[in-house]
Amino acid sequence: MKLCIFPVKTSENLNKIIVEKKNKKYAKSFSAAGFSERVIFLPHCMRNIEKCKAKEMGSYYLCMKCGACKAGDISKKAEELGYKAVYILKGGKAVEKLSSEIKPRAVLGVACFFEGVQGMELSEKRKMAVQFVPLTKDGCVATDVDLEEVFKVMSK
Ligand code: SF4
Repeated sequence: MKLCIFPVKTSENLNKIIVEKKNKKYAKSFSAAGFSERVIFLPHCMRNIEKCKAKEMGSYYLCMKCGACKAGDISKKAEELGYKAVYILKGGKAVEKLSSEIKPRAVLGVACFFEGVQGMELSEKRKMAVQFVPLTKDGCVATDVDLEEVFKVMSK
C-alpha cells in the first residue's frame, strides 16, 4: 500500500511562520521609529516572583531593576537607549489598553508564540511598527528569553 504523507504543521509552527513574516514586514518601519517613540511589552511570567520588587500599576508592573530577572536588564538597556517605556503586562488585554492610551509608533513584544501572534495582529490594527522576540522557555512562571536577541532588536 502506498502512503501519501503530508507534513503536519502544528499551531506552534504556524505561529512561528506568522511571526517571522510579520517581523520581516515591519523591520524597516520599526527601525525608522526613534527610540523615544518605542515601547516594550514583556510578559509577567518573566519576573522572579520570589524576589520581584516591581510596582503594580493596574494592568501592568513597572520593573524596579532589582536584578533578579532579565526584565531588569531589558529595562536598563531601554533606559540607556531612551525608550519611551517598558511595561510588564499582566495579560494580553493590557496590550490593547496601553496601546490606545500611549499610542507608541513602534512596539517590541516578548511572549510565547501564541500571545505574540495576537499582539502583532493588534499592533497592525493600530498601525504600530511591531517586532517580536519569542520566549526561549515559556510557561506560567520563570520563563526565559534570549537577552542578546532582545538587545539586537531593541538597538535596530
Ligand atoms: S528585575 Fe524587575 S521584573 Fe525582574 S524580579 Fe526584579 S523588579 Fe521584578
